[in-house]
Amino acid sequence: MEKHILQEYMAHLYRLGVEFVGSTYVGRDITIDELFEGGYHAVFLGHGASLGNQLDVPGADLPGVIMATEFLVRGNLQPELLPEWMREPLPKSERVLVIGGGDTSMDCVRTAVRLGAREVTCAYRRTEAEQKGREEERVHAREEGVRFEYLAAPLRTEAGPDGRVARVHFARMALGEPDESGRRRPVPTGEEFAVEADTVVIAIGYGGDEEVVRMIEGKDVNRSLVTVSPETFETARPGVFAGGDCVKGADLVVTALADGRRAAESIHHYLERLPKKRSSAITGLRTAR
Ligand SMILES: Cc1cc2nc3c(=O)[nH]c(=O)nc-3n(C[C@H](O)[C@H](O)[C@H](O)COP(=O)(O)OP(=O)(O)OC[C@H]3O[C@@H](n4cnc5c(N)ncnc54)[C@H](O)[C@@H]3O)c2cc1C
Repeated sequence: MEKHILQEYMAHLYRLGVEFVGSTYVGRDITIDELFEGGYHAVFLGHGASLGNQLDVPGADLPGVIMATEFLVRGNLQPELLPEWMREPLPKSERVLVIGGGDTSMDCVRTAVRLGAREVTCAYRRTEAEQKGREEERVHAREEGVRFEYLAAPLRTEAGPDGRVARVHFARMALGEPDESGRRRPVPTGEEFAVEADTVVIAIGYGGDEEVVRMIEGKDVNRSLVTVSPETFETARPGVFAGGDCVKGADLVVTALADGRRAAESIHHYLERLPKKRSSAITGLRTAR
C-alpha cells in the first residue's frame, strides 16, 4: 500500500483524538496492569503474529542468514524510515535462497529479484500441491525467473572462507501420509543435496508473542495466541479485548480489520456498562495527557 494512504488515515485518527505512543513494547516497557492503573478502562490487544519462526538447524545464525521481515523492510524502505539497527543497506547478493513456501516467501523472492540477485531459489519441504500461498504469486515469481526447489528440508548452513553463509544442505523429502492439516507429510528419502547462496532468507511462518499471552492468562501458559470469546472479543481478563493475527495466527489484513471493528463495538458496550464515575475518569485522563 502506498505510504501516503496510511499517513492520511493516521492524520484522520489524530484529528479524532487518538494518541499514538511509539517505541513501547507492551509486556516489557509497560504491562496491562500498569495501563489499568494509569486510568485506562479497556485494553485492545492487536499485536499481531509478527515473530518470525526461527530455522532450527546448525549455522542458522551465520552472517547472511536473515529473517523474512527484516529482509523485506530493509529491501523496500528508505533507511531513515527504519529503526537504527536496521539502517545498514542489505549487502548486494548474487544468489538468494528463500526457505519457506507461503506468500511471505513469494514476497521475498520477488524482492530479491528487484534487488538485483542473479539467481533466486525458493526451497519448500513439500510440493506445489501442498503450498499454502496463492498460486498467482508463484506464477509471477516464475515469470520473474525464480527457481523452485520442492521436497527440500534444510539440514544445515555452511560458511564460505569469508565467514558468511555460502550454501545450505538439504534433505530430499518424499510425501508420506497426511498430517493433522490434511496435507501429506514430508518424509526424508535419505538423499542430500546443497544449494549455493550468499543470502538465505527464512520465511517459515510467524507466531504470536507468548509474553503478552502470559500477562493475561498467567505465568505458566505456553501459548502464543490470545484466546477470546468469538462474540465479544473479550479475553479471560475483564476489560482486555483482542483481535487480528494475535488471536487467529498469521492471517489477512481484511480479517484483522473486521475483528477490530467488531471488538470496538464490544468495547463500547463494555464501557457503557461501567459505573458513571469510572467513565468520567477517561475524560480526565485524556485531558491530563
Ligand atoms: C511479509 C508479509 C506479507 C503479507 N502480505 C499480505 C497481503 O498481501 N495481504 C493480506 O491481507 N495480508 C498480508 N499479510 C498479513 C497481514 O499483514 C496481517 O494479517 C495483518 O497485518 C494482521 O493485522 P494485525 O493488526 O492483527 O497485526 P499487525 O498488522 O501485525 O500489527 C501488529 C502491530 O503490533 C506491534 N506489536 C507487536 N507486539 C507488540 C507489543 N508487545 N507491544 C507493542 N506493540 C507490539 C507490531 O510491531 C505491529 O506494528 C502479510 C504478512 C506478512 C508478514
